[in-house]
Amino acid sequence: MTTQTRAPWRYVLVTGGIIAVSTIWYLLQVTVGAGPDAIAYVTMPVTAAVGALAALNLVRRGSLSRQARRFWRFMIFAFGFLSAGYALLTVAAFRESPVLPSMPVPAAALAGAGFLTAMWAMVRVPLGITNSGERWRQWLDRSIAFLGCGTVLFHFGLAPLMMSAGQWSVQAITLIGMSFVLAIGAVTKVAYIRGGPIDRSALRMIGGTGLVAAATAVLMTTAGNPGTIPAQAVLMPLAPALGVLAARRQWNSTGARPRRANTWLPYLAVAAVDVPLVAVIPGSLTWTDRLVIVASVIVTGLVTVRQFVAFRENARLLREKRASEERLQHEVSHDGLTGLANRALYRERLAVQLATGDTTVLLVDLDDFKTVNDSLGHDVGDRLLIAVAEVLRAETGADGLPVRLGGDEFAVLVTEPTALGETIAQRILDAFGGPVSEHQLLVHASIGIATGAAGSPLDRLLRDADVAMYSAKQRGKANWVRYHEGMEQPVSTHAQLGGELRRALDGGEFAVFYQPIVALATGRIVGVEALVRWLHPARGVVGPAEFIPAAEGTGLIVPLGRYVLRETCRQAATWLAEFGPDTLQKVGPNVSVRQLHDPDFVRDVREVLAETGLPADRLVLELTESAVLRGPQVSRTLHELHDFGVRMALDDFGTGESSLSLLRSFPASIVKLDKSFVDGIELDEPGSAAADARQAVARAVQQLAGALGLDTVAEGIENQEQADRLMLLGYTLGQGYHMARPMPAADMTRLLASQRDHAAA
Ligand code: C2E
Ligand code: CA
Ligand code: CA
Repeated sequence: MTTQTRAPWRYVLVTGGIIAVSTIWYLLQVTVGAGPDAIAYVTMPVTAAVGALAALNLVRRGSLSRQARRFWRFMIFAFGFLSAGYALLTVAAFRESPVLPSMPVPAAALAGAGFLTAMWAMVRVPLGITNSGERWRQWLDRSIAFLGCGTVLFHFGLAPLMMSAGQWSVQAITLIGMSFVLAIGAVTKVAYIRGGPIDRSALRMIGGTGLVAAATAVLMTTAGNPGTIPAQAVLMPLAPALGVLAARRQWNSTGARPRRANTWLPYLAVAAVDVPLVAVIPGSLTWTDRLVIVASVIVTGLVTVRQFVAFRENARLLREKRASEERLQHEVSHDGLTGLANRALYRERLAVQLATGDTTVLLVDLDDFKTVNDSLGHDVGDRLLIAVAEVLRAETGADGLPVRLGGDEFAVLVTEPTALGETIAQRILDAFGGPVSEHQLLVHASIGIATGAAGSPLDRLLRDADVAMYSAKQRGKANWVRYHEGMEQPVSTHAQLGGELRRALDGGEFAVFYQPIVALATGRIVGVEALVRWLHPARGVVGPAEFIPAAEGTGLIVPLGRYVLRETCRQAATWLAEFGPDTLQKVGPNVSVRQLHDPDFVRDVREVLAETGLPADRLVLELTESAVLRGPQVSRTLHELHDFGVRMALDDFGTGESSLSLLRSFPASIVKLDKSFVDGIELDEPGSAAADARQAVARAVQQLAGALGLDTVAEGIENQEQADRLMLLGYTLGQGYHMARPMPAADMTRLLASQRDHAAA
């Protein structure tokens, strides 16, 4: 079995040739008289036979699907039966010549079998619908269409035929009826086929054979004998000719493209049945009959309109539903304030894009937005965010998707493969060069850019952009930075250091150093400040500046501070036991704000004092102004401690802002003048504003403290001149490298011992 790619022309040519010859014969017959009328009957069986052969060839040689092959196998038989039936008629024609024959029963039976076979094949053509509800609806629609069209054809074709003179045998009329049914069946079926294995045009042509047969019959009825000869010789053979063309069409078919099913056919059918109804009105009917007919026509018309309106309405509802679904979809995927895409949509799009190709994102963070919000109010803040969103939208253009991640954090997903993240970032920064929003506010943004390789993890890319953005902020804001490998190191040292500190604390690597606080006039030690040190196994003694920020950031300051507190109290109690109650008036550990927020802090302090036996009034907690200005909870903690007898020192005094009111509300008993006012206080530069200002602050602090009954300690004294100058300003206590550096407890013990010996001597 060989398969040809293109359909052969020979069946079409042969059929065309036969019809051409018989047409010429007919013309000669009418003009000059060429042989008996019976010759006219030869054309039909011959062309039908060619049709059967064409179908046979298609089935054997064409490349068909299983279903198409079944259909066309039926068509071989259909044309075969027709050919045989009309061959019998031809025989009858020659036998009865010159009288025109009537259809012998076996001939009619064979032809009828042909029509039935074709109809059956048509019925079995699959519609390409899988949904069962849809199938039922279509059956209904097709039944309406079938009945509607059938009624019209019956009224104008078959009925007059049956009513006309008795020359039409029952056989002939049955055949004509069948051809009608085939034609209508084909039309209503083809209208609903959504695709499938059998070519739609081919099906239409098969349906056309029925129409040709029916039309021919009508011609014969109306024209009588003179019509019968051309009908048999020329018109009727057009039916098998259509079959041949259909076979060729199927051969070349590339497979029917799916399309929307027809929806207008039932309306047309309903309207069509009214046509015969109206047509009978002029006949012999009573006026009441006519009224009934008119009413039924109006009713079907109204039902049709009603149906159509319902259909339109459904379509509209469907459109609205789709629109509201889209709106909902928009709401869940967009930011309500700015209308930009939100984080969810961002991640979704990002995931899709990252799966298939390299993807660049920009993380845009506004600088100092909080200040605007806090000082100008949320309304202005919102207006500013909207303006920023506008800028992002305009500057991103078609190159990407602008996103609001939340707060003052925005992003751009670059979607245009050729667009450069840097270019977009620069455009955005340039746009922020001038004032935005109707409030003419100046905004700046820091932008981090990162690119993820196709298939790389999404969270990695987001983290890289984050790191780059922080780096941009660190470099002085209002600029962009692209992520590069290793950039996160300085940013993540906090976390890394946090882990190391934890191990160091567990491993006992921390120690407390003590720096004496002395009476400036005599040099006598009146107290100590406790300062933590990290005795690092590799790096030696590490100062608090290098790890306190990380300890505060990770929360480790709480256990670390607890350790310092306990160690300080324990050591102080030991010294008191050894050197007597006059040795140290105060021991001062530093306390950070994080510790004050710890709900257990007060309890910890009381426990430590109870355990170590250190009297509460010997303990002076050193706090900074910013730490004590942290709201009612901290304030309560401080007052509880105060009521318990613990004293407090205000550290780094003079560097903050609200010193005066603070001194009134805060239960401090000591003020420590910050080192920055001590630095250079001894210099007598006439007219030096800086030196004057320092002296003025030092004096004011001393007078203020004196007025409120507080002690003062001057910090960071590095030479005798500073000490002298401070004494002149009224300071009695000081602390600094000039007197002693912070030292381990053992050194401090020796120092205290020598002081006792000295006093004894
Ligand atoms: P601070 O409370 O102001 O402590 C005084 C700092 O000044 C100490 O630095 C001390 O060594 C240094 N210092 C003392 N005299 C002089 C001087 O004459 N010249 C100069 N240049 N410096 C002097 P240190 O020990 O490095 O501590 C730095 C800061 O770390 C402290 O400042 C304190 O705020 C914090 N700190 C230290 N230990 C602890 C602690 O156990 N817990 C908490 N939360 N913070 C601590
Ligand atoms: Ca301190
Ligand atoms: Ca200080």
